[in-house]
Amino acid sequence: MTDSTEISITKIQRESVTVHCCSSPDSGERVNAQIIELQNTLVIVDAMLMRPHAKALRDYANALGKPIDRLFITHGHPDHWFGAEYFQDVDRYALPETTQEIQYSAQFSIGYHRGQHGELITDVPVLPNKEVGEGEVLIDGVRFLVHKIQSAEDLNMIALSIPSEKVLIAQDLIYNQVHFFVGQKAADGTLCFDGWIEALKQFDRFGYDVVLPGHGVPADGSVFKENIAALEKMRTIFSGSTAENFVQNTLDAFPGYGLRSMVEFSAFFLFQMKQG
Ligand SMILES: [Zn+2]
Repeated sequence: MTDSTEISITKIQRESVTVHCCSSPDSGERVNAQIIELQNTLVIVDAMLMRPHAKALRDYANALGKPIDRLFITHGHPDHWFGAEYFQDVDRYALPETTQEIQYSAQFSIGYHRGQHGELITDVPVLPNKEVGEGEVLIDGVRFLVHKIQSAEDLNMIALSIPSEKVLIAQDLIYNQVHFFVGQKAADGTLCFDGWIEALKQFDRFGYDVVLPGHGVPADGSVFKENIAALEKMRTIFSGSTAENFVQNTLDAFPGYGLRSMVEFSAFFLFQMKQG
């Protein structure tokens, strides 16, 4: 990918749905938004970090020529909701906890990312306007399951599955060959590793064929064990590292992973906590 305003698309054809995995470049934290194309409508999951990528996502969805039934915002991290600005005409579904997290953190997140990218970042938080909870949702004749995950990559998040197609829209439950964000603290003050690993073990049992990560290219069911091993290794690296050598130790341990900026981002949160 040469142009930082471009997104790349991986198309996966299943029997009753076509998934268009839309990936941003490094400048957009390689975040993915997923377009689930049904017979008559589109379901969009997450909305990108930067304006050019969110706009490209919307333009691509429009070009498919089907109405957008809804947008799901899987969790409250900015790389998943900043682009909601381009979906103000669409119902935006999230957990009530996610909407609260966005309300609480929007000012800080917008300031932080505008400090790096200026006008390429939204200046107005566009909040979810509908609530979603765990359970079943029927859209255009296709049955989706909404799964609630707690104390993992974020305190509260959802993943969506389409059981008939063995597809899991995992978003940030899964990272594929990209450095993980491991800076999240659970409600009880512990770090994210244990809750996240536990959630991955549970999802691994369902036998998905297609797993769509929040960062990195689409994967198959083997990605769960890979992610569990990587998080266990990161937990060990963290406990044996200082603020000075954590980034280098992580980079050395995962030479094949992309997106170094995510390690620095994790370090910022991890070591701020250690001191506090
Ligand atoms: Zn993310």
